[in-house]
Amino acid sequence: MSIDMSTRIVVAIDGPAGAGKSTIARRVAERLGFIYIDTGAMYRAVALWALRTNVDLADMHRLEQLAIAASIELPPRSATVLLNGEDVTAAIREPAISPAASKVSAVPGVRRALVEKQRQMAAENSVVMEGRDIGTVVFPDAKVKIFLDADAETRTERRLRDLRERGATLAPEAVAQEVEERDQRDRTRAESPLVQAPDAVYIDSTSLTIEQVEEFILKIVRDRTSNGKGLRL
Ligand code: C5P
Repeated sequence: MSIDMSTRIVVAIDGPAGAGKSTIARRVAERLGFIYIDTGAMYRAVALWALRTNVDLADMHRLEQLAIAASIELPPRSATVLLNGEDVTAAIREPAISPAASKVSAVPGVRRALVEKQRQMAAENSVVMEGRDIGTVVFPDAKVKIFLDADAETRTERRLRDLRERGATLAPEAVAQEVEERDQRDRTRAESPLVQAPDAVYIDSTSLTIEQVEEFILKIVRDRTSNGKGLRL
């Protein structure tokens, strides 16, 4: 399925940790020929830089400076993440980075800096952008908005699987706690909390396969893009 690129389209996918956003967003982007943008990777990159340089995660001013100064690249059609030219793809997935990313992402200046970079990344391309505030803050006019969810147990299992695949050995209880604490922080922060946009389609992926979620989202994209005009499906 490909879409006439003269009309730039944003597909926004938001939701809590472990809901399946990355897997789904990547596949949907591939099917549509759009660029996939993982905004969580950007908050993770700033968190990594802060930890490496011993910046206190409570120091809002220095965190904002880091976020402004950070060169973050997500080369299209690759899972690679570059921070200031360095490949940090594996480093940002270390277990310690998740809570740190959640902390730095609560800082308004950090969000301002990264939202600006996210808007630039989508300036000339149709994108599938995934995160917590894409449909509410980054692209409130996005053509398609999805809020992807799953029950807590499923989200913990998916997170565990992800971490195991990367070679991390964590107790299920520790992962459950990490996911719960992070979501609680993301949902209750003052700045751009994780919340469903009123015009987003809610999808509970608990008992759906990846293929089912993917097809459902593609159908929504089809329905929302000008009655199929410019679509070759
Ligand atoms: O998506 P991922 O779990 O990798 O994101 C890591 C953290 O980055 C989240 O827990 C959240 O605190 C933050 N984040 C955010 N806004 C986004 C994407 C991620 O606050 N758009």
